[in-house]
Amino acid sequence: EASAKKAAATANAGAPTIFDKIIAKEIPSIIVYEDERVLAFRDINPQAPVHVLVIPKFRDGLTELGKAEARQRDILGELLYAAKIVAEKEGILDGFRVVINSGATACQSVYHLHLHVLGGRQMKWPPG
Ligand code: ADP
Repeated sequence: EASAKKAAATANAGAPTIFDKIIAKEIPSIIVYEDERVLAFRDINPQAPVHVLVIPKFRDGLTELGKAEARQRDILGELLYAAKIVAEKEGILDGFRVVINSGATACQSVYHLHLHVLGGRQMKWPPG
C-alpha cells in the first residue's frame, strides 16, 4: 500500500524511533506482555482482530532483522518465544501469524526490530 511504502522509504534507519518512547512509557500503549528484555503492545493500526508488536527493550543496533549479528541470537529467540506467549494470552494459539518486515522493500517503517503477531481471523496466503 502506497502510504506504508512511503513511510518505509523515508524512515531513518539509525535514529531513535517512536518505540523508544513507548518503552520509556512517554507515550501510551496497550501492553500485552512485558519482561526484562521484551515488550509487547497493541499495534495502533491493527490489520487483524489481534495485532500485537513484540520488540526488544534494548535495540542494541537491532534496527532490522537483516542487520542482526550472531551475538543477538538470544534476544531473537526470546522475541519469538514472547510471540508465542502473546498468542496464548490472546487466545489465538490455534492459528496465528508472525511477520517481520526487514528493510524498505518489505515496507518496514519503524527501525527498531519488531515482530507482528496477527490473528483472530482467517489469514490468507500469500501476503502482499
Ligand atoms: P509498516 O508500517 O509498513 O507496517 P513496520 O513493519 O515497520 O511497517 O511496522 C510498524 C508498525 O508500528 C505498524 O504496524 C504501525 O501501525 C505500528 N505503530 C506505529 N506507531 C505506533 C504506536 N505509537 N503504537 C503502536 N503501534 C504503532
